[in-house]
Amino acid sequence: MSYDDNNIFAKILRGEIPCKKIYEDEFVLSFHDINPQKKVHALVIPKGKYVNLEDFTSKATSEEIAGLMKGISTVAKKIGISSIDNGGFRTLSNVGENGGQEVPHLHFHLFGGEKVGRMVQ
Ligand code: AMP
Repeated sequence: MSYDDNNIFAKILRGEIPCKKIYEDEFVLSFHDINPQKKVHALVIPKGKYVNLEDFTSKATSEEIAGLMKGISTVAKKIGISSIDNGGFRTLSNVGENGGQEVPHLHFHLFGGEKVGRMVQ
């Protein structure tokens, strides 16, 4: 699976285009989705060059995988949608054409701040 260095999230990671940053650590970057589908709509992406979830789980280190999973929970807490002290949220990752993936850099969507609704429409 070849990675396209010119995808929009690669450019955000390189600082070539701006984002509304929420959180960053050695493994992940998180920012607000440019076209929010719910009251709160954040994205969490790994810093490594991975096309999608399958590419990530086949090539990433255990530290990177743990770092991304932890990053999702850290971001949820930071933006006030955690299930622990707020109402909770939905996270999902679109994989490939049938999954509806548009940007070919692995990303998890976090939706919350209101009832998210049906899982699949
Ligand atoms: P997906 O269909 O899962 O690949 O989702 C891609 C997401 O990236 C969509 O929700 C877009 O609104 C979002 N997106 C595209 N460009 C940007 C950008 N420059 N900054 C933030 N979010 C973006």
